[in-house]
Amino acid sequence: MKKIFQISLIILTASIMIGSCSKSKEASAPEEEPKKEEPKSNSPIETVKDIKLAVTYTVTTDATLPSTFADTVKRTRELLEMVFSSKDFRDELYKRNFHDSAYTKSTSTCFNRVYGGTVAGRSIAGKAVYDNLLPNGTFSIAVNIRKNGDNTTTLGSASACGSRITTNDYWLRLSEKRLAQRLARHWAHEYTHIRGYRHDSNVPSGYKWGSDVNKDPAYGVGDVVGDVLDKWTAAGIIK
Ligand SMILES: [Zn+2]
Repeated sequence: MKKIFQISLIILTASIMIGSCSKSKEASAPEEEPKKEEPKSNSPIETVKDIKLAVTYTVTTDATLPSTFADTVKRTRELLEMVFSSKDFRDELYKRNFHDSAYTKSTSTCFNRVYGGTVAGRSIAGKAVYDNLLPNGTFSIAVNIRKNGDNTTTLGSASACGSRITTNDYWLRLSEKRLAQRLARHWAHEYTHIRGYRHDSNVPSGYKWGSDVNKDPAYGVGDVVGDVLDKWTAAGIIK
C-alpha cells in the first residue's frame, strides 16, 4: 500500500514538473518583434524590414502582352519590395484576423500553422500571416503567364505550398488602371497561397468569420497591398 502511494507520489511529482516545464516554455516563447529600422531620409515610407524580391516569369506562346510588359514586371517587383518592407503593410495586417484556411483539409505543410486570432477557436491573427509570409529578407516568385481560353473571370492561381504562380494574360493590358499596382496586388494574393493559405469556404457557419471573404488570408493580403499602394498614390509618394 505504501509502495503504491510512493509510486503515485512520484507520478504526481513528475506530472507537476512536466506541467510546469511546458508552462514555462510557453511563457518564455520568444515574441518576435519585427526589427525597426530608421526611415530612409529621402523616403516618406517608413520601413520595418528590408525585403528583397526576385521575380522570374515565362510566357506561353499563345499569350498576348503589352510590349512594355518587362518594365511593368520590374515596377511590380519594386512596389512589392516597398510594400512588404513597409510599416504601413505590417500595421494594417496586424489589425486583421482571418479564418482558418485549412479548416476542412489540412494538407499544407510548408510552415507551422499558427492561430491566435481574436475569435476563439481556429482564427488566425494577422501577425501570424505576416510572419509566415515574410520569414526571410529575401524571397522569389516564379510566374507562368498564359492564355486561359475565353475565361475572363480568374486573374490567375497558385497552389497552397506550391512554387509557381499562374497569371492569365487577358487583363494584362495598359488600359488596366495602374497595371503594375494591380499586378502587385494579384501576385501578393497568389504568393499568400504559396505560403500555405487556401480558400476554405467550408468553415462552419457557427464561426462568425466563416462566410466573410474579407476574412480569407489570400484576399486579405491582396487587399492590404492594394490599400497601401492606393494610400501612397493618393499621397503622391508613388505614381
Ligand atoms: Zn486565391
